Order: sequence, then structure tokens, then C-alpha cells
Amino acid sequence: KTNHFDVVVVGSGGGGFSAAIEAKKAGKKVAIIEKMPTVGGNTLISGGEMNAPGNWVQKKLGIKGDSVKSYYKDTMKGGDYLGDPKMVHILANNALGSAKWLRDDIHVKFINDQLFQFGGHSYKRALIPVGHTGQELVTKLDKKAKSLKIPIYTNMKAKSLIKRNDRIVGVKARYQDKKNVTFNAKKAVILTTGGFGSNVKMRTKYNKEYDKRYKSTDTAGTMGDGIVMAQNVGAKLTNMKYIQTYPIANPKTGMISLLADTRFDGAILVNQEGNRFVEELERRDVISKAILKQTGGYTYQIWNDKIDGISKTKAAHKAEYNELIKQGLLYKADTIDELAKDFKIDPAALKATIKKVNRYAKTGKDKDFHHRAGLVSLAKGPYYIEKAVPSVHHTMGGLVINEKTEVLNKKGKAIPGLYAAGELTGVIQGSNRLGGNAIADIITFGRIAGKTAGKL
Ligand code: ADP
Repeated sequence: KTNHFDVVVVGSGGGGFSAAIEAKKAGKKVAIIEKMPTVGGNTLISGGEMNAPGNWVQKKLGIKGDSVKSYYKDTMKGGDYLGDPKMVHILANNALGSAKWLRDDIHVKFINDQLFQFGGHSYKRALIPVGHTGQELVTKLDKKAKSLKIPIYTNMKAKSLIKRNDRIVGVKARYQDKKNVTFNAKKAVILTTGGFGSNVKMRTKYNKEYDKRYKSTDTAGTMGDGIVMAQNVGAKLTNMKYIQTYPIANPKTGMISLLADTRFDGAILVNQEGNRFVEELERRDVISKAILKQTGGYTYQIWNDKIDGISKTKAAHKAEYNELIKQGLLYKADTIDELAKDFKIDPAALKATIKKVNRYAKTGKDKDFHHRAGLVSLAKGPYYIEKAVPSVHHTMGGLVINEKTEVLNKKGKAIPGLYAAGELTGVIQGSNRLGGNAIADIITFGRIAGKTAGKL
């Protein structure tokens, strides 16, 4: 069977939806194809937070001083200056506009009096969607796509790109692994298939460290398909060896712990000996590496009700909370003694650590690890303790795209007809993506891809 469209978007995460919506608004006949039975990709299961310097919640909370420049600097530095400066400028300049587009055009609801300051950021600048997950984003993007009558073909796996006279003119796909279907694209194919975090073979091909010892926070569909398809038509790859682990994930399943977002509001990390060992707002790679050096290669995250009162993650992630308790990975306790007992930590050592934290909270100076937001007092219970390990979370490397999201070949020339946006591109996040930067990236460049295709 052959279907005819102007623009074919492969992958239905935040990047794919943004591209499809913009191309459709520009008057193109657009389709989205998605290999899984449901839409959303990793965008759906992410925390959904999005950096936007100078945003409306900062204004409301009286957070002053943030700027496009500061966000640009943090992102470049966070990726060890391996991101393409020109592309990171586009991200920084457009992040607030992308957030406003989500808010005003897509009707995404963001919490209006709370922000996160993820590791590596100089300001609290990440907007939080209601529910603290990507579900709000995907639900609303899906709704918009439906209202624009964009067809979404689920269970439809793109297998290869069709090239004619050096131009990409479509996609060969398979429906439910049974039936071949061809999608002709008169104007553009836009790849938004996400990264390769779930593909152990591909991970180890580019970086031996990330073998099957590591679980992944990603969906099963995160296999690098788009990267390989583009590579097969001559696309250049970059930064492939940079694979990010999320430091705080479930040791049994590899799933990201969103409950543990209390870390951004003062939760501390300790090892089996009851000692802190890293600044809790350090970059994900730094924290992950530090955790793996501790006894057993895991950490405990500790917080109290005061911190939860700021983060509100217990209410937002009730299901995860109950599940972790059931799995014996989370305990609530009234005293530090009890807390220490749950995981057989030496109570005296833990008490000493917490006493120091309380002192640093008071003076505002963390003399041990220089917590950049300032520690919060843990003098009062009830407390929570959660066991966690790093898990593969984001693959920074991928396709080289330019400011129009054209996919470039090894000579730096655009491959006609082929565009890409989102995690499968490798030019934005450098060696390490900062928290809240994936959503800003995929929405910004997804929209640019859709607008570019809309003009063809
Ligand atoms: P991004 O954040 O870059 O938008 P996501 O991980 O959120 O990426 O979404 C990528 C989507 O692409 C997922 O829903 C995934 O199942 C889908 N996908 C991956 N490979 C293919 C493929 N070969 N054909 C169709 N869809 C794919």
C-alpha cells in the first residue's frame, strides 16, 4: 500500500508532534508514523520540565537576573562546549517562545508558582507541567494534532528512507511487523525518532562503558532507528560516545525516579556509610560517576516533609511512591535512627551528616560540597529515604543538522528532502544534556523543522 503526503514525520514524541503541527498549519498534507501502539515516546514518560529563561513564573516568584545569555552559557558549559554554538543560540533565543507556544497554542498547563533548578543551571528556570510529567504535553499535542486532522499511523515502523535522484522522497514502513507500507513525501521527511538509550548494542558500539550492566529509563522504542536510517543515506553523526545516565533511578527497573525530584529543593545524597559525597545539584554525569564509585554503586536520597512541601513530588507521583515502598526501595521514618536502620546505615554517621547539613542550611554555606542553591534543614521529620542507581537516560549524539534542521552529509551539505529534530540530533547538548533542556530542544527544533517543511 502507498500513501501520499507532502510531509511525513517519523516518531510521535514532542519533537514529532511539534513538527507535524507547524507543517500542517503552513498548509501541508502531513502524516505522523509511530512504531509503538501509542504516541508520546520518552516525552510522555519524562518529567516534562522545560527551561525558559525570563519566563512568567520567574516574574511571579520574583526571580531576577536570568537571561538568554545566562541560559546559553549554562547549556554550553554543561555540555563541555561540544554543542554547536550557533544551534545552542537558537535554542536559548527560542526556548521562551517555545514555552509560550505550548501554553497559548497547545494549551499546555504549567504550574504557575513553582520552578525547578536542575543541575548545572544558574537559575530556577524550568517550567513544570501540571502533574510533573510529560503526559500533559503529549495529551495536549495529541489533541491539537487531532483537531488539525493530522493522521497518526501507530504500530507503523519506519524501516528505511526512499532516495530518488539524491533526494529523500519517502519512507518504507511496516505495519504491525506484517505488512509493508510506503509513505511518499513530496516535500520532506522529518525524523523525530528519539535517541538510542534502549539499544544496548548501539550503546556499546559507540561507548563500551554503557553495556547491559546499565538499565535504561527510556521506552522500548528508543532504539536509534532514525539515526541508522539517516546514516544509511549518507548522514554524518557526531558526539555519539556521549551517553547520559540519570543519577536517580530505580535499581530494579531502571525507571527514572520523579519522586526524587526533591533533590532540586534540598534532598541530600549519602552513601552506605552515611556520608554525602557529591553536590546534589551537580551535572548528571558527575553525580552518576560519583555514585558508581561508592560502596555497591548506589546512593540513598534523603529528604523530609519540609522539602516535599516545596517540591510537592509526593502528591504528583503517588503511584511511584507506593510502588517504591512496595519494592522496599523507599522508607518513611519519624527519626534519623529509624531511617538509618531501614537500609542498615550506621545511625551515628548519618546523624553526624545531617547535623552538618542543618548547620550549613543555617549559615547558607555548604562547606563540604558547595550546594549552589543552599541546603535545607533536615532537623525535623518525618523523613524519606530512597535507594537509587544511575540508569541510561539520554543519548547526546546523533545527526548533524543546521539552523533549518536540514540533515547534513559527511561533506556538510544538506541531504535534500531530509530533516530531523529532537534527541536523534547530536549538535545541541554537547557531551551532557542539562535537565529541562530536552523539552526546550525538541519543541524548538521540532517547530523549526515543521516551519521549514511548511515553506517548501
Ligand atoms: P523526542 O523527544 O526527540 O521527540 P521521543 O523519544 O519523545 O523523542 O519520541 C520518539 C518517538 O519515535 C517514540 O514514540 C518512538 O516510539 C518513535 N519511533 C522510534 N523509531 C521509530 C520508527 N522506526 N518508526 C516509527 N516511529 C519510531
